[in-house]
Amino acid sequence: MSDVAETLFERIIAREIPADVVYETETVLAFRDINAQARVHVLVVPKTRYRNVAELAAADAGLLGDVVLAAKAVAEIEGISESGYRVVFNTEGDAGQTVFHVHAHVLGGEQLGFFGRHGAGA
Ligand code: AMP
Repeated sequence: MSDVAETLFERIIAREIPADVVYETETVLAFRDINAQARVHVLVVPKTRYRNVAELAAADAGLLGDVVLAAKAVAEIEGISESGYRVVFNTEGDAGQTVFHVHAHVLGGEQLGFFGRHGAGA
């Protein structure tokens, strides 16, 4: 089910496109979202590409663990591990996934709104 075409995030990982990198390990790269939806908005991307979190979990649970641990590290670096943060994996169309290289959004640094149905909540 994985796409063959290279995604934007592979080009960021290859340093062909610049990004504001916050954290990196052998297996993941974390960089600021170009269209931040909160004061802190960082994307955590595994360097090996899977289309979405379901494919990642099925293929490599250890790598999924690396992504979640990187989200924790990002929260510590950004000083939001105590105040709180949200980790989101948008998965396919209704969730608004636009880049089909799995990534965790790490959001925080201020009180976050509710989320769910389009137009609902604050
Ligand atoms: P999603 O909609 O869950 O697939 O998330 C893709 C995210 O990538 C969006 O929040 C975009 O703002 C973000 N994005 C797109 N291009 C870039 C870029 N060049 N650098 C950083 N973030 C980007």
